Amino acid sequence: MSDNKVIDGKLISEEIRKKVKIFGDELKKKSGKTPGLAVVLVGENPASRVYVKNKIEKTKEVGFKSIEHRLDKSVTEKELLELVRKLNKDENIQGILVQLPLPDHIDSDKILDSIEPEKDVDGFHAQNVGKLWSGLNSLVPCTPLGCSIMIKKIVNDLSGKHAVIIGRSNIVGKPMAALLLGMNATVTICHSRTKDLKAVCNEADILVAAVGIPEMVKSNWIKKDAIIIDVGINRIEREGKNILVGDVDYDDCFEVCSMITPVPGGVGPMTIACLLLNTLLTSYSQYNLETPDLSSIFK
Ligand code: NAD
Repeated sequence: MSDNKVIDGKLISEEIRKKVKIFGDELKKKSGKTPGLAVVLVGENPASRVYVKNKIEKTKEVGFKSIEHRLDKSVTEKELLELVRKLNKDENIQGILVQLPLPDHIDSDKILDSIEPEKDVDGFHAQNVGKLWSGLNSLVPCTPLGCSIMIKKIVNDLSGKHAVIIGRSNIVGKPMAALLLGMNATVTICHSRTKDLKAVCNEADILVAAVGIPEMVKSNWIKKDAIIIDVGINRIEREGKNILVGDVDYDDCFEVCSMITPVPGGVGPMTIACLLLNTLLTSYSQYNLETPDLSSIFK
């Protein structure tokens, strides 16, 4: 297997975090303030706990403040809304992240829409979603933003290219489509009701898989030399061990594709790097400072 086919999200995300720290240090000097990222975790979902732990560690590493709110799964919607309102008003908090999924008795959309759009570092608020689809500056959901940065490192302009996304969630599939359109790709979104998914995927120059079905995409779904971005994180048991695999059968697809993201070490670390990038971005406007040219972060 040739290593130059692997899109190394771990390495790219490390570079981004280093640059976020450099810009962040400069911002702290200029403003005399330290950006704060509040993370709200409800309940004991083991996967969420791992993500949140990583997010907190990396936030501190770039020199931002991390403020955690761990709530029991019995918390009411009203109490959670109250906490978000408090964080919205807190001048020491520039970004608010409510970790999903929330317990069934809480309306996630209501909570996400209660976050001040300027502090919505996950980019899930309807105002940010609308701006993204209108091509306006907005806070963009971290996972698809990370995917788009990785794709841009390989091809900057996707004119004439067909991008196929499997999955239409608000968190990944839909914002990914908006970003790929912005890069001039012709975009197809597939989902659980799509007929002959394999045939659609076979037409993809860029294939983004965000489904949650372990190793669903096989080599005979892939056009030769396609770029594959595997968003899926699935925990499975193989040969007596618990391992993480993506939605793409990596070993099977490797020879056919031109580039591919591994799982783990592909999209996952990019998500956290983009969360910190979004926190940096929104801090400039909240401190009433002009946003400098951040393009070097993506190079
Ligand atoms: P989701 O469950 O909200 O959405 C899954 C999508 O897949 C849906 O739109 C559904 O229509 C589609 N789908 C389901 N079965 C299908 C089938 N048989 N054929 C075609 N489409 C089908 O999930 P999500 O939040 O978008 O996450 C998708 C995957 O990405 C999960 O494995 C999740 O763990 C992972 N994820 C990873 C990151 C990261 O940081 N790497 C971030 C978010 C999500």
